Amino acid sequence: MIQISALPAFTDNYIWLLQDHRTQRCAVVDPGDAAPVQAWLAAHPGWVLSDILITHHHHDHVGGVEQLKNATDAKVYGPASETIPARDVALKDNDRISVLGWDFEVYAVPGHTLGHIAFYHHGLLFCGDTLFAAGCGRLFEGTPEQMHTSLSRLASLPEDTLVYCTHEYTLSNLKFAIAVEPGNPDTAARLEKVTAQRAAGIMTLPSTLALEKLTNPFLRVDETSVKEKVDERSGTQNRGPSAVFAALRAWKDKF
Ligand code: ZN
Ligand code: FE
Repeated sequence: MIQISALPAFTDNYIWLLQDHRTQRCAVVDPGDAAPVQAWLAAHPGWVLSDILITHHHHDHVGGVEQLKNATDAKVYGPASETIPARDVALKDNDRISVLGWDFEVYAVPGHTLGHIAFYHHGLLFCGDTLFAAGCGRLFEGTPEQMHTSLSRLASLPEDTLVYCTHEYTLSNLKFAIAVEPGNPDTAARLEKVTAQRAAGIMTLPSTLALEKLTNPFLRVDETSVKEKVDERSGTQNRGPSAVFAALRAWKDKF
């Protein structure tokens, strides 16, 4: 039985902490800052950090790796095609790794960055800055087509998959989602719920793929209502889901 919790970092990052209570070993995903992880380890004597999983090279995801590597014997896993500090295992699409005795599949999900990867284990998805709750990452390196393909691949995982992304962006993403789909009752309900959660300081993650498919406009570019709204905003007929996705992402960049 592995327990998953969030160590908040910076203003809106979560460092996911995976704990194996049988062995008292733990792993972290995307430690952009070493301090929250080291504080947790100091407060939990007996626990050993054995693995560090990295989704992409941005500083808010890798900034703490070197310090954690120096302080522990943790093994660092990261994308092969990006520069990751202290990386021990270079991962590419469809690789499999064993972490805390669990098998994780590695998916290449280019878009936010070109080498971005996601980790999947039986209903648990760690997707960094690719799929967010009610949104998706900015296209810093990849094309809209690449990101659309990456998101479609993640969306094909089982509906009850828990989505552990890196940032608490859900509320601002939903304000955009409701602008795209003002008539979507699921989006309206989620916006109301998340507004209350954030007002109370409650984390809105993990999400589920089922909820994302109902409310995340970036997973809904096949919907006629989304296409029509995006066409109206961009003043053109966007041909095909990939073009709708590109125009939707461009709209969000300026929202
Ligand atoms: Zn990033
Ligand atoms: Fe990030």
